Amino acid sequence: MRVLIVEDDAGIAGGLAAVLKGAGYAVDHSATVAQAWAALSAEPFDLVLLDLGLPDGDGSQLLQRLRRQPPATAGQVRLPRPDLPVLIMTARDAVHDRIAGLDLGADDYLVKPFDPNELQARMRVALRRSAGRADPVIHIGELEIDPARRTVTRAGQPVALRAKEWAVLLSLWQARGQVLDRTRLEQALYGFDEGLESNALEVHVHHLRRKLGDGLIKTVRGVGYFIPRESAP
Ligand code: CA
Repeated sequence: MRVLIVEDDAGIAGGLAAVLKGAGYAVDHSATVAQAWAALSAEPFDLVLLDLGLPDGDGSQLLQRLRRQPPATAGQVRLPRPDLPVLIMTARDAVHDRIAGLDLGADDYLVKPFDPNELQARMRVALRRSAGRADPVIHIGELEIDPARRTVTRAGQPVALRAKEWAVLLSLWQARGQVLDRTRLEQALYGFDEGLESNALEVHVHHLRRKLGDGLIKTVRGVGYFIPRESAP
């Protein structure tokens, strides 16, 4: 899962990035509306954390522009993604600001300062909604995957996953039925500034298969990986 933090306060952005990286998200940061639009146009993000008061404009302008992008046709990836989940975070706690943000298409609203655990819970809700699933626990065969608690059991036995393994699994699940190529998965896993070993993705998939069984993640040779849509509960 790849997250864009749009925030001009370097301290807040750095703190958020550290928390989210620790939780296994790939994180990028933009400090202005212009930078954020460039990042959203270049890379496939899964979620945006958006500050409203930015040096070159208001975050709500970015949100409005994003929501007005034409939707992608089936099988296409259009950037920026008009339906990208957006959580507004701002010090403004006036009711009219909150209403305006939600009316412009924000998925949720957090008033600073907020608890990092609450932020992550709300991010999971937004990501769950965007994947079109209401059930927070994923059941596939003998697997039970709970993204909120970060727990997996296989035939009732707990399975430990590392942060990047979670990220691979959730990216594939979020896009189930659709093949994600290497580049797309690597973009989902690693931020601009993170080093990437050439076989890192294969290693994560190998570990996931060893831990979760061979049946879940399919390979399309020379292209990428997918989880079949029939795996949906
Ligand atoms: Ca600000």
